[in-house]
Amino acid sequence: MTIINSSLGYPRLGEHREWKHLLEHFWKGQLDSTTFHATAKQLRLANLKKQQSLGIDYIPVADNSDYDHVLDTLVAFGAIPTRFGHFDHQLDLNDYYAIARGTDTAVAAEMTKWFNINYHYIVPEFDDITFKLLDNRWLRYYQEAKDELGIDGKPVILGPVSFLKLGKRNGQYLDDAGVAELLPQLLPLYQQVLTELAAADVKWIQLDEPTLVKTTAASELAPYRQALTTLHEAVPALNIELQTYFDSLDLYDQIVDLPVQAIGLDLVHDHGENLDHLLTRGFPADKILAAGIIDGHNVWASDLQTKLALVQQLQTVVDDNHLWLQPANSLLHVPITTVNETKADPILLGGLAFADQKLQELHTLTIAANQGVAAVQSAFDTNQANLAALNQSSHRNNQRVREAEAHLADQTFERQAPFATRIKTQHERLNLPLLPTTTIGSFPQSPTVRAKRAAWRKGNLSDEDYQTFLHAETKRWIKLQEKLGIDVLVHGEFERTDMVEYFGQKLTGFYATQNGWVQSYGSRGVRPPVIFGDVDYTEPITVAESVYAQSLTDKPVKGMLTAPLTIINWSFVRDDIPRAQVQNQIALALRQEVQNLEKAGIKIIQVDEPALREGLPLKQRHWQAYLDEAVYSFKITTTGVQNDTQIHTHMCYSNFADIIDTIKALDADVISIETSRSHGEIISAFEQTGYDQEIGLGVYDIHSPRVPSVDEIEANIQRALRVIDVHQFWINPDCGLKTRQEPEALAALKNMVAARNAIQAQLATKN
Ligand code: GLN
Ligand code: ZN
Repeated sequence: MTIINSSLGYPRLGEHREWKHLLEHFWKGQLDSTTFHATAKQLRLANLKKQQSLGIDYIPVADNSDYDHVLDTLVAFGAIPTRFGHFDHQLDLNDYYAIARGTDTAVAAEMTKWFNINYHYIVPEFDDITFKLLDNRWLRYYQEAKDELGIDGKPVILGPVSFLKLGKRNGQYLDDAGVAELLPQLLPLYQQVLTELAAADVKWIQLDEPTLVKTTAASELAPYRQALTTLHEAVPALNIELQTYFDSLDLYDQIVDLPVQAIGLDLVHDHGENLDHLLTRGFPADKILAAGIIDGHNVWASDLQTKLALVQQLQTVVDDNHLWLQPANSLLHVPITTVNETKADPILLGGLAFADQKLQELHTLTIAANQGVAAVQSAFDTNQANLAALNQSSHRNNQRVREAEAHLADQTFERQAPFATRIKTQHERLNLPLLPTTTIGSFPQSPTVRAKRAAWRKGNLSDEDYQTFLHAETKRWIKLQEKLGIDVLVHGEFERTDMVEYFGQKLTGFYATQNGWVQSYGSRGVRPPVIFGDVDYTEPITVAESVYAQSLTDKPVKGMLTAPLTIINWSFVRDDIPRAQVQNQIALALRQEVQNLEKAGIKIIQVDEPALREGLPLKQRHWQAYLDEAVYSFKITTTGVQNDTQIHTHMCYSNFADIIDTIKALDADVISIETSRSHGEIISAFEQTGYDQEIGLGVYDIHSPRVPSVDEIEANIQRALRVIDVHQFWINPDCGLKTRQEPEALAALKNMVAARNAIQAQLATKN
């Protein structure tokens, strides 16, 4: 009677981002497909060997990808949008990458967020397609692991229902009727894949159906039941681990009853609900409980004592040979190993666990559960000592932060006067024209900007020379903005690579990893900062840049900050205290920054909250708490100023129609929102609910290099003015211009100002 362990998926990037480089070299034509395949194979085998040496019993295979696992699934089943061609054989690399990256004649497939994390998958398009099995990739990779390494792996397959639900037809995500229509066409192909796997002696497959965590009504289970019944009856010899992750199962009773041999549950991101279900409702005696006990989307070492206690609780529900220990979700979403973090404070390092360390924890816990803690005593002792050291360190015991937190409860965070009063004083002070023009913050990060920053980072450019360069760039752009006739200027954000890193460098409690890359999409990695300690404000962050820019012009220059929730959502956040508490610490720090900007004479301060919408919890019942916390931290940040200081905010990446109440509750004087991707829904949402404060609905899309015409921008403005009063409206692009080329940015802004001027003139003649 033994408990065993299993993993769900391993990071693709490679310890030194070998995979990323492989893909990019191939795209640049620097290596041929034979070399590509040989190198990719070496990386796959190295990853498998590593998992084997870390003591994993059921090692996932076929979780590797040349880009993205949803893309892999759609090309395997022949669901290739017809604009890329018609295929009756396995795709070669060029055809495969055409779908992900587009060609001269076919636009790339859309990409979107994978559930609530910062990984982006290729969205299947189920228009005009006939499913056919072009490649049993699962069999190929299973066989490879077996032949080359003697690993009897567990093929990971995206389940048919989730695959369909993640895709679109006619531009809309498939609804229940669409799933019901396509599933019977797809199932025979899954059946064939499984039959071939069983014939090759595969014992277990991991069938991922993450969309199960979003089901709430029993009727929604019909397609899952249909799929699993068909597959089980067709291939009874093959064991299916039905894997769920990222939240709990509302339909627990019905789901654990489905005809599969193991159920994978997330016991980390489930708000305690899955454990509750297990303890109160029990678990079928004939099935294996695959218990996700290690956090697969954060970077912290587990408390092994607590985890062992959890395992012991699970042992009261199922017997030992029906219990597997697993990460809660694929380790794809964490960096690979902490061993390359050579410069980290050892106190922090002891508290970190990336993918390899998490597998080690799993191994240790499995031994402890089977043989008693004594068998792994030193690992347990080290773990307890490391966690105690981090928790007791000065990083997590900042008295100033404790005191500020203690006073939060007896304060209210509201502006001094209501908006109607504030805006009058702001208008008097700023004296802006009707329909004021502005931009969202960043200007093009030209190759020169990036080269200078790289040189400075490597120590090849002195602080002083770098500073001089940044100033020159800001000055050049202040003059350009004046020449364009923009009313409210920005300094351009040339000092920032992204919206979070720069703040992390100047606040306490942040660690910038050396090698903590995670895949964001395709070959793209991000290196989120790690918030490991109390966040405190020790020096001004952006004041010098704003003050310098303001010194160059008589027009107002906006201060430019990132709001607390966005900082949190794009970081790895400590898990020893609630996220909202970390968010409020950041808010208290930024409140001081806002006040310092005001003191330095900055009259307008923009606090960006682009991640608000995308960070919404998976289950709607958790939305309100999340949104309330967002509003609270935003108001801590922004309410410490005088009435005549104007607070702006900006949001993008999504459709905001369903969180309009939250947008109002932020009580920002001016908000700018991206509109190009919400197809006018946001405008009609304002039409229905009304909006009193000032607002800029992006008047052109910045995501494309195309320069919008004056007429087109004018039409966009006129459309918004049918819903929003002309005295409330601002004219700005959809988002920052960081990714654009300078000539494009200038041409588009020129047209934007011309469109505004044309409308101003029309309004003047009317009066
Ligand atoms: N101020 C930021 C910029 O312009 C905002 C970016 C964003 O909304 N994602 O780059
Ligand atoms: Zn934006």
